[in-house]
Amino acid sequence: MRENCAVLGLVGKKSEAREFFCRRKMGTVDAMFSQELVGRLGGLGEKLGLGLKELQHRGQESTGFAVSQNVAIGHNRYSTTGENSDLNIQPVFGEFKGKLIALAHNGNLINTSQLKELAEKRGFDFSKIKIASKAKAEEELSDTWVILALLETSPLSDFIEAIKEVLPMLQGAFSLVILYEDMVIAARDRFGIRPLCLGENDDYFIIASESCALGSLGADFVRDLGPGELWIATRDGTVSSIWAENQELKICIFEYIYFGRPDSIMEGISIYLARKNLGRSAALEHLSSISGADLIVPVKDSGTLGAIGVHEETGISFDSEVLCRPHFTYVRPRTFIESDQGLREEAVWLKFRPILFDIQEKTIILVDDSIVRATTIPRVIKLLKNSQQALGKTVKGAKKIFVLITSPPYMFPCYYGIDTWRYFESGELCARNFSGDIEKIRKHIGADYLGYLSLESTIKAILKADLTGKMKPCNFCTACFTGEYPAPIENSH
Ligand code: 5GP
Ligand code: SF4
Ligand code: MG
Repeated sequence: MRENCAVLGLVGKKSEAREFFCRRKMGTVDAMFSQELVGRLGGLGEKLGLGLKELQHRGQESTGFAVSQNVAIGHNRYSTTGENSDLNIQPVFGEFKGKLIALAHNGNLINTSQLKELAEKRGFDFSKIKIASKAKAEEELSDTWVILALLETSPLSDFIEAIKEVLPMLQGAFSLVILYEDMVIAARDRFGIRPLCLGENDDYFIIASESCALGSLGADFVRDLGPGELWIATRDGTVSSIWAENQELKICIFEYIYFGRPDSIMEGISIYLARKNLGRSAALEHLSSISGADLIVPVKDSGTLGAIGVHEETGISFDSEVLCRPHFTYVRPRTFIESDQGLREEAVWLKFRPILFDIQEKTIILVDDSIVRATTIPRVIKLLKNSQQALGKTVKGAKKIFVLITSPPYMFPCYYGIDTWRYFESGELCARNFSGDIEKIRKHIGADYLGYLSLESTIKAILKADLTGKMKPCNFCTACFTGEYPAPIENSH
């Protein structure tokens, strides 16, 4: 199952003699970028490791990169559940007319099977990839391999022309970075569903999933890549064009609610400000129901800024530490990705330690960004309500828990890179199971009050954090709340 991914591309402004080299493995950026590797790759490798580390929140399961001459691309990814080969770790790599290419992708295509058939008709043999990766027969190749296969088998002899031939075939979400000789080429789908931005410093042109990657590289944010844009960078400069016929920005609204890092700015919107505004709006929408509460507690880390917003709006005390998140115990990266229910439950217990001394018999406003399968929130409620024994005394838990969710009920699956369609198919989407009936969801999670934020207020709160004033309510994908998908989904799964 994939949650979200990160892509990064670096183009050095000086020519360098470096052979094509690609490495992909399970694990984090730190595990990949050993001193030995950085020594081997030099400054470019060091910058690549630094940049990828800043994007680690978008994927912690595998890391990969490719370098050639003065250019590099890298990727952080969530792995497919149960996978035990490196089949789908990115970047994927192959050849175009005898020259090595590598490709990294954030997003998800919705016409992969048709494209796979087309690539096979053009003569691509997918079994060679599985054999090379020692993959099991039942392991499925990712959509990213299919893009590579289409590029490899393009009838056109010029690589950029081949990319322009392939891009219009791809349906769904993609922010792509491609390495070819001394070039990095980037493209964003016609709706710009996943983010992609440009940065620059004296030594590099940079393309990254989020602007938070630029700080550690000493680079300035230049702009977001537009929906349907193709960007080509060499050491001499960059060239941009529009590859798509109809571009229309529909960036994933969840980038603002949950995925993006707070210090990123996406499409001119500060994620930090957006999350605080979401909390403020949730407080306002539910003011009369929550105003008697004693304390606001976030479900860390994703609920923290929302909870600060609730505090700013209501003046009710805020304490993020009564749900302590130990940093040095074994904590699985993110509870959401655990496939086995038992493991997920255990992971929630491991992730949070309640400290009850200060909340005994108090009414708490618990704030989180979303409820998907309702794995996290009911357990956190239990942790805060249960009594504990300390020094032979009973420390009582909270009296009441009011839950505020800083987004609308999550009713529909995502087909654009967040694999919640799996939960949809297995009947695990909590709000959907109760047909969005808030009272039933409240009972299910064990809260004394439950308030979601309306879609209208969610969009307004995010737009209020627009520093450029360019974004409009229609510029977001909100399909997991509304079921209105910007790109067709009939063929998705
Ligand atoms: P649940 O516990 O309801 O299954 O998932 C919601 C919790 O998981 C929230 O705390 C949220 O921050 C986190 N989360 C992790 N990954 C995702 C994701 O891909 N989508 C959403 N909406 N929430 C996620
Ligand atoms: Fe984002 Fe939801 Fe659209 Fe998926 S369906 S891209 S999670 S808004
Ligand atoms: Mg969370």
